[in-house]
Amino acid sequence: MTEEIAADDAYARETEATVLESGEQGVVLDRTVFYPRGGGQPGDTGSLRWEGGEVRVADTVRRDGRILHVVEEQPPPVGTAVTAAIDWDRRHTLMRTHTALHALSGVIWRDFNAKVTGGNMDVGTARMDFELDEMSGEFGREVEGKLNAALAEDRPVHVRFLPRDEALADPELIRTKVNLVPDSVDPIRVIDIEGIDRQADGGTHVRSTGEVGRVAVTKTESKGKAFKRIRIALDEG
Ligand SMILES: [Zn+2]
Repeated sequence: MTEEIAADDAYARETEATVLESGEQGVVLDRTVFYPRGGGQPGDTGSLRWEGGEVRVADTVRRDGRILHVVEEQPPPVGTAVTAAIDWDRRHTLMRTHTALHALSGVIWRDFNAKVTGGNMDVGTARMDFELDEMSGEFGREVEGKLNAALAEDRPVHVRFLPRDEALADPELIRTKVNLVPDSVDPIRVIDIEGIDRQADGGTHVRSTGEVGRVAVTKTESKGKAFKRIRIALDEG
C-alpha cells in the first residue's frame, strides 16, 4: 500500500520515497504526493529523481488499488530511494479548478435547486452537467456573477474524514450521491466548502475559495431535456 500524502495535504509538493514495484506500466512507491487520475481530476505529472538518475512522470493512475507513476523512460529499480516531485504549478491550477467546480455545483443547487449529473476538468478549464430545464447565455452570465460572489467570500475549504454511517445520514452528502461510494470505504473523505458545498470527494482542493480567483462561464449548452452543460475557465487576467 502507498501512503497517499495528497489525501491529507494537497500542498505537499515532493517527498522522499522508496520504489516498491518497477516495470513497463510504471513505478509504485511506498509513499507519494502524486494524485492518481480520478473523480474528474487528471493525474499528476512530475519527476522521480535518485542518485544517478531522473525520469519524468507523464501521468498518475490507480490500478488494482496501487498508485502507478507512469514513466516513459527506464524506471528506477525496486528498492531505490527517490525524490518524488509533482509539477506544482499545474497541480495548483487543478486544485483551483476543482474547488471552482464544487462551488459551481453548490451555487446551482442553492439558487436553482438543480443536481449535478456529471463533470470533468482539465488544467484551468472544466465542465459540469446539471438537471436543469432551461439554459441560455443570459443564465450563464447570472451564474458567473453568483459563482464569483461566492468565491470572493473567501470561504474555508475543509478536508474531513467522516465515519461512513455519519456521511450516509448527511442530507447534503446524500444529494451528492455519497451512497455511490463503495461499501468498503470507511471513513469517507469529504470536501466541505463552508456554507456552499459538501461532497464525498477524493480530489485535491485549495484552502479557501479566495485562492481560486475569478472564474468565467465560457459556454452554456443544452444537451437534452434536464441535461444542461456549463463550461468554466479560471480567469488568469
Ligand atoms: Zn470533486
